[in-house]
Amino acid sequence: MKRKLSGGQLLDLIDGSLTPCEVLIDTVQGTVLALGTDLPEADETIFLHGEWLLPGLIDLHVHLREPGQTHKETIASGTLAAAAGGFTQVACMPNTIPPLDTPQRVRDVVQRGKAAGAAQVRPIACITRDQQGQELTDFAGLKEAGAVAISDDGKGVQDGGLMREALVIAASLNLPVAIHAEDASIARGGLMNPGAAAKFQVPPLSASAEAAMVARDLLLAEETGAHLHVCHVSAEPTVALIRFAKARGVQVTAEVTPHHLLLSEEAVRLDDGVFKVNPPLRSERDRMACWEGLLDGTLDVVATDHAPHTRDEKAQGIWKSPFGMVGSEFVLPLLYTHLVVLHQWPLQRLMHAMSLRPAQVFGLHGGVLRVGGPADLTVFDGSFKTYIDPKKMHSKGQNTPFAGWPVNGRVRLTLVAGQVIYRETEGTTS
Ligand SMILES: [Zn+2]
Ligand SMILES: [Zn+2]
Repeated sequence: MKRKLSGGQLLDLIDGSLTPCEVLIDTVQGTVLALGTDLPEADETIFLHGEWLLPGLIDLHVHLREPGQTHKETIASGTLAAAAGGFTQVACMPNTIPPLDTPQRVRDVVQRGKAAGAAQVRPIACITRDQQGQELTDFAGLKEAGAVAISDDGKGVQDGGLMREALVIAASLNLPVAIHAEDASIARGGLMNPGAAAKFQVPPLSASAEAAMVARDLLLAEETGAHLHVCHVSAEPTVALIRFAKARGVQVTAEVTPHHLLLSEEAVRLDDGVFKVNPPLRSERDRMACWEGLLDGTLDVVATDHAPHTRDEKAQGIWKSPFGMVGSEFVLPLLYTHLVVLHQWPLQRLMHAMSLRPAQVFGLHGGVLRVGGPADLTVFDGSFKTYIDPKKMHSKGQNTPFAGWPVNGRVRLTLVAGQVIYRETEGTTS
């Protein structure tokens, strides 16, 4: 069967231009048959009204909570939330219960992802067994089962010798090692950046805990030739270290979250668990360094670190509530508004960091719309004005400090392999 999208505008990821364009899709093969104007008739045509045709977005860092914590999120709810946010692929972290530390568990998540039929699931597997930092997992078997990277996200691998061993094996398998950089001997159970920690009388978690671990792992990556991927960069020294390492030719990539781009610890005015995230919201100087790092490419990708929790869990204040914020469903309008509309970033810089670059970083298909490529695409209406409303979200978690923020734009349609996995219908005339 052939499906056509008519009336949209194609974004050029190189020069940022938008050109009227139709897309003809082979829904059996799941590929793009043609891009252009006056394309032949199809079995089904979806009519658009000038919305933008973007490559399907890719999020390299989400928490789907299944198995083990399905009261927070499931693979089905998390991938539907991602689809509603315009994502066609998500890489999910392995700190589930039990953790994804065996090939069978990785295969199981891949299967459940396929059954859910929303954004495609690309599991990240554990570096160490049960994420205990003691014994390495079977990287080759995990990769064979479908793992796109390995990570002990939630905590760092504290033993530098073990991390070196992990990087040697990962390098031989061409498997990226994604790090939650936190030196526990510096962190000492800290909860917030020092300024906010003093204000709310909780233990501080300084930027040095992150940067020290990043420095160690950059040296080890240089020595071993492994691909190091630094998760959720939050601090100015970390950005500087990555910039330095890239100049030295170290194979390092890095991600930044929407909350570290748009919020600093000054936003934490109430003892409210919604502001608690790891790494914590940092100083304004750190925030600006992340902003500049993303703009100049030191930070390669935007990833949400979508971390859903229940309302009750997050209602326990800063001391007791768990770390994490959701992000899948509004990151595109939020960053389009704040980077492109309000600060004149080139649209293609943002889109590159949310589609093509993430595909390159973890070696995934897609990330670009081209004839013969996968028909994974996102239809975005940049002119629509709305605000972030957690009640309308598909995720089981509504824990976001961005609730109520006005934004430009909404995702109208998300397609994976030519199949519509999400369609926004509210307020449309078509
Ligand atoms: Zn983390
Ligand atoms: Zn995470």
